[in-house]
Amino acid sequence: MKMSKLKSIYLGSVNPPIYQASTIAFDSLADLAKADKQYGRVGTETNEALALAISKLENAAKTIITSSGVSAITHSLLPLLKTGDHILVCDTAYLPTHFFCNGLLNNFGITTSYYDAKASGDDITKLIQDNTKLIFLESPSSLVYEIQELDEIVQLAKDHNIITAIDNTWAAGELFKPLDIGIDISIQSLSKYCGGHSDVLLGSISFKNEKLYSEIWDSFYQLGNHASPQDCYLAYRGLQTLATRLNAHQESALKLAKFLEARNEIKEVIYPGLDSFVQKERFEKYFKGGNGLISFTFADKISQDEIKKFVDNLQYFKIGFSWGGYESLVMYYPDCSQKISDNYGSTLVRIHVGLENVNDLEVDLTKSLENSIC
Ligand SMILES: *Cc1c(COP(=O)(O)O)cnc(C)c1O
Repeated sequence: MKMSKLKSIYLGSVNPPIYQASTIAFDSLADLAKADKQYGRVGTETNEALALAISKLENAAKTIITSSGVSAITHSLLPLLKTGDHILVCDTAYLPTHFFCNGLLNNFGITTSYYDAKASGDDITKLIQDNTKLIFLESPSSLVYEIQELDEIVQLAKDHNIITAIDNTWAAGELFKPLDIGIDISIQSLSKYCGGHSDVLLGSISFKNEKLYSEIWDSFYQLGNHASPQDCYLAYRGLQTLATRLNAHQESALKLAKFLEARNEIKEVIYPGLDSFVQKERFEKYFKGGNGLISFTFADKISQDEIKKFVDNLQYFKIGFSWGGYESLVMYYPDCSQKISDNYGSTLVRIHVGLENVNDLEVDLTKSLENSIC
């Protein structure tokens, strides 16, 4: 007899239902006692379907779904640290990661040293103290895409008995699998490519090591965090098209990166998939491909007012933070508020290339360059 391919719990629906619950009710005390979910705050079957899918994506044993990417970062760090500990964080980490280290962690007497994302393993080793508990990585960074020599960092962390955690949002768990190279914790903002439609805030924390998972899960539960089953459903649905969407983002982005490189208004285009990318070899060592994020700077003679006009005049590229949705976005970084090397000056613009027709996007960029820059 042919085995059913359908999970009986879904009654044949392709996607998991949205189980929305605070109370979970039982027929008997015995049933309550043996249930693995006794109350909705631990997450329902919908949360679990997403956690299992992210574990598969990240090659993880366990995944915790959190209410946002930032909460995934803070709930990873807090339980593993205590007063008197020290952590190393790459200087290009997402800005709210800095806020948390400089704010709450500092208030609790946990100190942070920031290391240069381009530092060698030897340079990072020099920053290790007797009380260094954890190294927090983000590679590539999400503004000019510095890529760290992760193998070296993992090795030195193991040599010093230090935990490693990485913000893997850029790669969306698809373009890079941190747990496979020995990083202990892989964190994502699912609000970006996994959600994929700019309508969900969620985060994930993935582990190969069950002991680390239990430690973080316990404090996650103590702190009362929870992810909405509705949002978990949307992220689960988004995940089904993640690889296909990323391919499309990459293909269009590469085309537009080459287009921008050929324009004389543009000084430098920073896109990891380009031959001109300074860390091309390292990019290819770790990543399966690129995504839709491109940054570029303008020629020296172009004023900030002209750049602002260029940004405002774009039609398809909406002005907005974040990325990873189907729509194209643009943001101007006149003072490069995230720490990056000075030579990017005050002309850095980042675009997220969405899933619109790439020819329309090229026409949009062309028209805006021609109408905004004298
Ligand atoms: C957006 C982002 C986050 C935060 O995610 P939220 O879901 O918005 O809280 C963390 N890290 C990186 C690299 C991001 O781009």
